[in-house]
Amino acid sequence: MSITMTQDRRANPKDPNAGQHAQDMTDLQATAATLLLRSNRLSVSLILELLDIGDAQFRELSKCNEEIARLLDQRRRGELQIEEPELKACPGCSEWFIPYAGQRCCSDECYRIASIRT
Ligand SMILES: [Zn+2]
Repeated sequence: MSITMTQDRRANPKDPNAGQHAQDMTDLQATAATLLLRSNRLSVSLILELLDIGDAQFRELSKCNEEIARLLDQRRRGELQIEEPELKACPGCSEWFIPYAGQRCCSDECYRIASIRT
């Protein structure tokens, strides 16, 4: 009886996933940061605010993430490429949409309508 209790107490672990959760969060923030840094409409300080991370933490992120470091360099040199999405009028419904990978219509449905009508 006393042995079982001792074993139970010894088996009580610290949360083994605690470190992993922190790592996942950093990965998530790094991914979000690279996406946000590509938009020249967002300032770095706004990005930090959006991600809820401090200057020091962001510096750490940029040190271990090449993509973030590269984007920051681009920003510093003012060479951030403007990737404005090009709007296109859908031949099916005449609505404006942002074509993805050479997409001709805003939806499959409109694509069908457009191919019937032309
Ligand atoms: Zn459409």
